[in-house]
Amino acid sequence: MVMKKHSLSKKLFLQAKKAIPGGVNSPVRAFRAVGGNPLFIKKAKGSRIYDADGNSYIDYVLSWGPMILGHAHPRVVSALKKATEKGTSYGAPTALEVELAERVLKIYPSMDKVRMVNSGTEATMSAIRVARGFTGRDKVIKFEGCYHGHADGLLVKAGSGATTFGVPDSPGVPKSYAQNTITLPYNDIPALRRMVEKEWKKIACVIIEPVVGNIGCVLPKPGFLETVRNVTRKHGIVLIFDEVMTGFRVSFGGAQAYYGITPDMTCLGKVIGGGLPVGAYGGRKEIMALVSPEGPVYQAGTLSGNPLAMTAGIETIKELSRPGVYQSMEKRSAMLEEGLKEAATRAGVKTRFYRAGSMFCTYFIDGDVHDYSTAKKADVGKFSRFFSGMLERGINLAPSQFEAGFMSLAHTEKDIDATIDAAYETIKKI
Ligand SMILES: *Cc1c(COP(=O)(O)O)cnc(C)c1O
Repeated sequence: MVMKKHSLSKKLFLQAKKAIPGGVNSPVRAFRAVGGNPLFIKKAKGSRIYDADGNSYIDYVLSWGPMILGHAHPRVVSALKKATEKGTSYGAPTALEVELAERVLKIYPSMDKVRMVNSGTEATMSAIRVARGFTGRDKVIKFEGCYHGHADGLLVKAGSGATTFGVPDSPGVPKSYAQNTITLPYNDIPALRRMVEKEWKKIACVIIEPVVGNIGCVLPKPGFLETVRNVTRKHGIVLIFDEVMTGFRVSFGGAQAYYGITPDMTCLGKVIGGGLPVGAYGGRKEIMALVSPEGPVYQAGTLSGNPLAMTAGIETIKELSRPGVYQSMEKRSAMLEEGLKEAATRAGVKTRFYRAGSMFCTYFIDGDVHDYSTAKKADVGKFSRFFSGMLERGINLAPSQFEAGFMSLAHTEKDIDATIDAAYETIKKI
């Protein structure tokens, strides 16, 4: 194997570190968890991403989830070109916003109304504000390892970035904020029941990743989401499904359609922006009626619902609405699953593979992963060697054991075969 050259990426990283904290605009991009320097990307097309040194990789990061159609999808690119010529933001309502909202509501019938924002962080932060306004209560229950963006009060035991860097509670978050956040182990029904029975009068909402993508890929145990739904309903607690990652991923209708659970509020992001910055939150009409200017709970955004983001979102959803799209993605995801599991077995290395729709994770572990503490037992040394070996062989994975991988519509069977071969060769030498 000829080692790939990364000299331009290295040079850019040195330069970046002088101008940008840690050289990156979002921490996990920096490769701290796996060692080495991040690749600087020049372009991407379909299932492939190209770095500054001209190397090409089959990409399973997909901008951390959004690029479900593959990079630079012709339909999205051509719609964006046309939209750009008409002006990129007006700060006034457009038909495009109505179209995207109507499409989202149709696919996510748990929501009667939806508000567009610019990121997943904004969506969860705003949803919680509305839930507090609706219930007149302050406390929030979240689960260990679930990441809901970087708003104060949600940065408590918050998944990959925090896990990777070992700072679950970030400096700069006032104690008084964190005090309103109750953290419980994921998949632990008795712990949830105990807490809700005791504190329900103070609890505004439960926010949850219905499949936890921010400590790899942790699936809900049978009955867990149902219990979360039942106890919140019983006590007038707003149930918020944070589907920023799982939306359009686990299925077209997200995890809520897949598991058949109806939350009171839903947060979306990633895929609905089609690669542009978008988030959205919505829910039942009596809850969303509180949102300004219909109601008193304030939330605003200069670029919210801008025509470029709406266009990318609409075109992405249209493409995903075509018949057979999810079946074909399922087929390819299952192929990858089988191949990776088989490669690890053949190489004689213990792993656990979890998948929900087109998101997945291989843990280097001998034992089940069902929450934050079991995920943390994974062998991060082995993962780092796996990551580096895969990168050398032209496969781009997220640079942390505690991140999900993603499949796109652009990944071919040939891509998948190449990935499985690379995985076997890598794991064998791990
Ligand atoms: C990515 C993510 C967020 C944050 O979204 P940003 O657009 O990065 O602010 C929130 N919740 C979940 C579940 C996510 O995966």
